[in-house]
Amino acid sequence: MKQETDILIIGGGPAGSTTALYLSKLGYAITLIEKKKFPRETLCGEFLSKEVTDILKELNIFQEFISMKPNQLKSFRAINDSGTELHSDLNFEAYAMKRSVFDSLLLENAKKQNVNVTQPAIVKSVSKINSGFISEIENESGETVNIKSRLVVAAYGKQNPLDKKLERNFINKKSLLNGIKFHLPVELLKEKFPDEIRIYTNEGLYCGMNQVNESEITVCFLENRKITRIPSRERLAEVIGSNKSFRDIFSDEAIGYINSANVYGTGNIHFGKREVVENGIIMVGDSARVIAPLAGDGIGMAMESAKILYEVLIKYKLVESDIQKIYLDYKQRYDRVFSKRLKTARIIQGIILNKKLRKIGFTFADKYPALLPYLIKFTRSGTSAQNS
Ligand SMILES: Cc1cc2nc3c(=O)[nH]c(=O)nc-3n(C[C@H](O)[C@H](O)[C@H](O)COP(=O)(O)OP(=O)(O)OC[C@H]3O[C@@H](n4cnc5c(N)ncnc54)[C@H](O)[C@@H]3O)c2cc1C
Repeated sequence: MKQETDILIIGGGPAGSTTALYLSKLGYAITLIEKKKFPRETLCGEFLSKEVTDILKELNIFQEFISMKPNQLKSFRAINDSGTELHSDLNFEAYAMKRSVFDSLLLENAKKQNVNVTQPAIVKSVSKINSGFISEIENESGETVNIKSRLVVAAYGKQNPLDKKLERNFINKKSLLNGIKFHLPVELLKEKFPDEIRIYTNEGLYCGMNQVNESEITVCFLENRKITRIPSRERLAEVIGSNKSFRDIFSDEAIGYINSANVYGTGNIHFGKREVVENGIIMVGDSARVIAPLAGDGIGMAMESAKILYEVLIKYKLVESDIQKIYLDYKQRYDRVFSKRLKTARIIQGIILNKKLRKIGFTFADKYPALLPYLIKFTRSGTSAQNS
């Protein structure tokens, strides 16, 4: 079977759906292939920054988002392993919502804009041909469908078998940085903090927590597995059981709950540089670059990268003579908008994961309270994709 479309998007997470929503404004025929049935959960701290709400407003989805009752967050608190606390108002609009709910909201809106969504189906390979690309798709019944397109946008996330097929330069790198998330009923917490996002630190890890609805809180860890190799669930129970700050908020039932909770994780997350155009395929979201999670900006960046691509495609046509200009303009805008944020977040993550530097950092920030709001600001967009 063979089909044709103007733009093929691989993946229906925030990057893929937002790309579909923006590019549908340009009148192109758009096909989006998503591997999983929605709603589905995925690894994420589920903090939604101002970058996200700005784009939801621009796409006229914000009111629908608010009607789904996301949990609004107003302040930030960081607590280290010796119990030192740093606190700041967020000073920008922020929410938290389960990814199962948020990602479905975006994808359903893309469908309303006549984006042709095929789900569940997997893009197995993409080949360059003279006049564009041929992508091989395996649908739900195991049949193979070839889709010819003028452009392919990869929004398949931070780690994917397609990276190997494209021979991307990071595929053999092992960061040993693993992420893991679960939802916990708030009634199992000794202390509730519904409008606060918190970061707890321990040896070689940090943990973000924010309430996502009236009854659940997201608990999300990033850990350097050089320090330990024991299985994730046992490790979670061990960390929570041995750290006084965690024990102050987790009841014994909460620690027991981890054994039966649905846990979502990814290993060896590569936070280093990636090419944003690979074999002629344009990368958006985590496929293009992964920001250190403590910035709480991955979803915002995924959606902003979609907007950058839209701004490029307003300027150029999808014709042979413009294609190299599209690649170059996208690369340049991407670097301009994100490089400072990516660097700052990675430096702070390095400090947080290192025992000595973490101690110095907390002491310093405790002494100079103006530093924390300043650092938070530095991990944010400052200039939006539109202003760049
Ligand atoms: C520990 C951790 C905590 C985080 N916390 C936060 C946070 O609190 N706030 C925040 O903003 N960001 C956070 N992030 C980052 C955020 O999760 C990502 O930046 C965001 O999910 C990127 O969206 P995406 O659409 O690029 O990729 P994804 O959300 O990964 O979506 C990719 C989609 O592509 C589909 N797919 C994959 N392969 C194929 C294929 N071959 N064919 C078809 N479909 C395919 C997948 O099923 C998936 O639905 C965190 C990240 C980590 C690691």
